[in-house]
Amino acid sequence: MISSIFDSKAISEAGRLIGSARSVVILTHMSPDGDAMGSALAMKHYLMGQGKQVGVVVPNAFPAFLAWMPGAEDVIIYESQKAEADSLMETADLAVCTDFNTPKRIGSLGDKLLSLSCPKILIDHHLFPDSFANVVFSFPQSPSASEIVYRFIRSLHPLKTDVFTLPLATCIYTGMMTDTGNFSFNSNYPEMYEIVGELVRVGVDKDAVYNSVFNSYTADRMRLMGYCLYSKMQIFAEHHTALIYLSRKELYRFNFQSGDAEGLVNLPLQISDIYYSCFMREDKVNATEVAIAGGSKTKIKISMRSQGDRPVNTFCADIFNGGGHKNASGGEYYGNLKDAVALFLNNYKHYNNK
Ligand code: 5GP
Ligand code: MN
Repeated sequence: MISSIFDSKAISEAGRLIGSARSVVILTHMSPDGDAMGSALAMKHYLMGQGKQVGVVVPNAFPAFLAWMPGAEDVIIYESQKAEADSLMETADLAVCTDFNTPKRIGSLGDKLLSLSCPKILIDHHLFPDSFANVVFSFPQSPSASEIVYRFIRSLHPLKTDVFTLPLATCIYTGMMTDTGNFSFNSNYPEMYEIVGELVRVGVDKDAVYNSVFNSYTADRMRLMGYCLYSKMQIFAEHHTALIYLSRKELYRFNFQSGDAEGLVNLPLQISDIYYSCFMREDKVNATEVAIAGGSKTKIKISMRSQGDRPVNTFCADIFNGGGHKNASGGEYYGNLKDAVALFLNNYKHYNNK
């Protein structure tokens, strides 16, 4: 039996909001990863099972290696389907937000969310959520938002045996697997395996999920990885730090697709004595970001990873206006790649010092 971690009043309030809703919109974060898609789609399957009309809206495209997920085919992408997303949100009588703690993490969709008068439920695992939701299920100790979705549903239905259908369980498992690197970090946490046990019992084929997510490279993506490691990785041994950065021109050379950079930041941590890794990639400022780009046509997306008790979220918050978890964080820089790299090089030594 998985222990309930939530306040019973919050659970009954969420149950009441769901009970009285007819149409629900689910939102998750920019550049959706396995946990974003897993938590959002799991909520979709759950709520559909409760007889609701449900739509999932994401700010921008999700990677091809998540397209197999049950329900992914109906996900609305705000960047390219704005009218459809707006109408879904305007007619929803409940919004459920998963895997983000501030409206800033969903780009221009954030303003739309804040303008909605319907109640909002937040299910997340990032520290210090902004107070934009009516009911909050935040559990930063948890490695994935998808696990919190499992706990949330379990708390609403403590005795129901068939509440976790196969599509629902598969989505939860996918998020748990991806946010722990297939249970290789943030994963010394016994209850997580009890949950995995239950999901496998429902019928989740964990080996097939692994294959779909991790063994699904295109040749271009694999070559991009080789290029990063052979030609682009810089090692700063004294500070146990690695840096890889890619310009748009380099990405173009490898026919870059959304999601192709996923995991590149983790690779240098396989080198012994490298405990901090930073990956930067140049991107175009899109129409919805012009207002915050300060005249820049390019933005740099920064990802950082670390091992053990070496936080990278403070670096990302202080230097790149971002944040995240202790060992997995990110940020953004509106400007050119050279300046972002210089900013990194001028500052990392103060942070990456143990
Ligand atoms: P990734 O490197 O996979 O893009 O992001 C890793 C984690 O860093 C995310 O789960 C999220 O918590 C955080 N993160 C990434 N980008 C940003 C950002 O621009 N701002 C903030 N606040 N957090 C970010
Ligand atoms: Mn997550």
